[in-house]
Amino acid sequence: MTDRVMIVTGGSRGIGAATARLGARAGYAVVVNYATNEAAAGAVVAEIETAGGRAMAVRADVGSEADIIDLFRAADRFGTLGALINNAGIVDEAASLAEMSGERLERMFRVNITGSFLCAREAVRRMATGRGGNGGAIVNVSSVAAKLGGPGQYLDYAASKGAIDTLTVGLAKEVIDDGIRVFAVRPGIIDTDIHASGGQPDRVAQLGPGLPMKRAGTAEEVAKAILWLASDEASYSTGAILDVSGARSIWP
Ligand code: NAP
Repeated sequence: MTDRVMIVTGGSRGIGAATARLGARAGYAVVVNYATNEAAAGAVVAEIETAGGRAMAVRADVGSEADIIDLFRAADRFGTLGALINNAGIVDEAASLAEMSGERLERMFRVNITGSFLCAREAVRRMATGRGGNGGAIVNVSSVAAKLGGPGQYLDYAASKGAIDTLTVGLAKEVIDDGIRVFAVRPGIIDTDIHASGGQPDRVAQLGPGLPMKRAGTAEEVAKAILWLASDEASYSTGAILDVSGARSIWP
């Protein structure tokens, strides 16, 4: 039984759930964070345990600093933190900037940016060798939207992911002497529930055939990239941002 813990924020569904499953297979004890869907988080934990791994579901809204602190304290009781996957993120309904409310922008940036910053802070406080930790890895889940900008649809979401890219590069430099490697993955269009939550349940079916690879990606394809970056196999990389977008980011 391992005590090397991986926290996956938003681990109950989509890319996070796939990452939690692969993380357990790689030998981590996985903290499966969720916001509201207790049943989905419980199903991921049950699947991991049935396969012989260790996992625990922890409810925490990454839009709340108090919840984040509780999440990391729960993880401390599970074992020694070795990896944080900053995956939880939200979209909103398609809108142009002229139609966006301040409330919408505040929620988007609080969950996607501040939440990721605070989770990274808690991870650094535990993993930094300069603070008595054992080092580790942080993988932030950005989006190819950070490069494309999301005009007319979700400029707020795209900008929040631009901030994640900057967090990745800056934090990688900040903690390079502390044994912590910091990465981001930039998924393209991936087949998960997130599109329905943004009011576009048919987005994958509609856009998939027109993508460079003629299909959307799967959550597992993103999770594999995340696990590789977090692993010792990527020991000479940090500050790297990997597009997992089926070439969407480089297509004209
Ligand atoms: P998803 O299927 O909608 O799943 C979202 C996950 O995040 C769920 O586990 C959800 O928990 C959790 N979550 C949402 N708000 C939260 C909060 N405030 N606090 C804690 N957990 C929260 O999303 P996904 O498509 O897997 O996306 C995961 C990440 O990939 C996001 O950062 C997203 O921006 C990024 N991404 C996705 C795509 C794509 O096409 N799917 C593309 C680029 C980037 P509950 O189950 O409790 O609701």
